[in-house]
Amino acid sequence: MLGPVTTGRPARARTHRRPRRRAIRVLLALVAVAAVLGIAVVAVPMLRPAGPRPLFQMPVACGETWQLSTYPGHDDYDVDFFPIEGEAWGRPVLASYAGTVTVAGINGSLGGRTPENPDGPRGRGGGYWVKIDHGGKWETQYLHMLEPPLVTVGQEVAQGDQIGRLGSTGNSGAPHLHYEQRRGWDKVETHFDGEPSGITTDEREQILRRVSNNCPAVS
Ligand SMILES: [Zn+2]
Repeated sequence: MLGPVTTGRPARARTHRRPRRRAIRVLLALVAVAAVLGIAVVAVPMLRPAGPRPLFQMPVACGETWQLSTYPGHDDYDVDFFPIEGEAWGRPVLASYAGTVTVAGINGSLGGRTPENPDGPRGRGGGYWVKIDHGGKWETQYLHMLEPPLVTVGQEVAQGDQIGRLGSTGNSGAPHLHYEQRRGWDKVETHFDGEPSGITTDEREQILRRVSNNCPAVS
């Protein structure tokens, strides 16, 4: 005759199994709730529609004519600003619209291109740069500045406030301002003074000219 068949587990283990299983279930439920909340926190602001386009102005001084350009491999909608007269180095870079500074620092690496050594080692990325949040999911970016930005993160700026000086830090061939306007996560065609810039693709080189109307408000 065979002896009593056992599972090999002491009976006591069985009484422990249920509470442990329940604890795992509660833990999984909490993880699921946390995941849903996390997704909601990230997704809800993304789904919220953007506000109306702010009346952006060119990021350079009132009344000056600048060259707006792009080239193959740049990226659609990105605009490089070069002055058509006068020294480019150190020219004031102005806020296109009022907002809050969200980035003011170094993107990539600075490299060594300065007014004294314009052909110095090329850096990586945007060099000294600034991002401004204009509300309604609108944002502008300003890259390759000469020196640390003149603004700090969290600072409120008005349209036309100087945020830095034009330079050639980061991955830049010559002193210029690389500029972008974004709506949410998307880059969009830059608009100035309510008019589109016309730079919508980097499939071909484009060079346009435009006069800045980033002028002090008349009261
Ligand atoms: Zn550029």
